[in-house]
Amino acid sequence: MRPVLAVSLLAAALSLAACKPTSFTAPAAQATVAKPQAAKPAAVPANDNLNAVLWVQRAAEYDAVSQTVYRAAADELDKALKEANWDALVPTERGNAATGLPPAVVMDVDETVLDNSPYQARLVHEGGSYDEATWDLWVAEKKAKPVPGVVDFAKAAAAKGVTILYISNRAVHLKDATIANLKAVGMPVKDDSVFLGLGTFVEGCEQDGSEKNCRRKLAGQKYRVLMQFGDQLGDFVQIVANTPKDRDALYDEYADWFGERWFMLPNPTYGSWEPAVFNNAWDQPAEARRQGKLDSLELAK
Ligand SMILES: [Mg+2]
Repeated sequence: MRPVLAVSLLAAALSLAACKPTSFTAPAAQATVAKPQAAKPAAVPANDNLNAVLWVQRAAEYDAVSQTVYRAAADELDKALKEANWDALVPTERGNAATGLPPAVVMDVDETVLDNSPYQARLVHEGGSYDEATWDLWVAEKKAKPVPGVVDFAKAAAAKGVTILYISNRAVHLKDATIANLKAVGMPVKDDSVFLGLGTFVEGCEQDGSEKNCRRKLAGQKYRVLMQFGDQLGDFVQIVANTPKDRDALYDEYADWFGERWFMLPNPTYGSWEPAVFNNAWDQPAEARRQGKLDSLELAK
């Protein structure tokens, strides 16, 4: 029986070997074997925001940057509290003396405290663009998660007697949903007065569009502002002319404040930096706006 079994096994082995090409198969023989056609990938629509939203959602590097910012701020907080004259409002927005006022920090909300990248991801998926109707629906869902590091910082600051003020360009009618979302993620909310949304009336100060200067002045009337947090230059100081040149000049003027009184969070997905390179003309066709961005890239000289 054994020789028969051995022959059978050998035959089976040869049979199996015949099923797949081996190194001994002649190239000509390989060429005659029909190869399966690779599936043609489905068309993927191009979207200018795909990489930016993906980076915020999937890159550990984004988490690391945000954590770094908030930890650096926490390290500066005691120094800011101790120095009686320490204030993070620019002189033109500090209408009254800060000394002796209770301490506060001013925080923007979107992409500074709350991460709205799921809303951005929807727009990428659907090929849509921002509009108030879809934005209001997203805010009403109250599903935004906190930006990495912000909750620990804010809780530590609140424990030291620092009030967290939210100066946001979320419109005032979104106040309740925003406060609910902030509370849900663990952010301190002293009372309803700490939310200063777009449309907040400030006596004696005329707000220019969505600029936050009046609301910063209002915060300064009641508080010594130790620090400001934002993801846009306009979260810290009024932008008079939104051009790359003027924005760079404004940054240069206050460069020393960053990392000390002002803390900037990364947001590659949107911001006034983008329209600045196409003359703030959103009414241009998308192709023209994209051309403006392409033309603004700096090539090596
Ligand atoms: Mg923001």
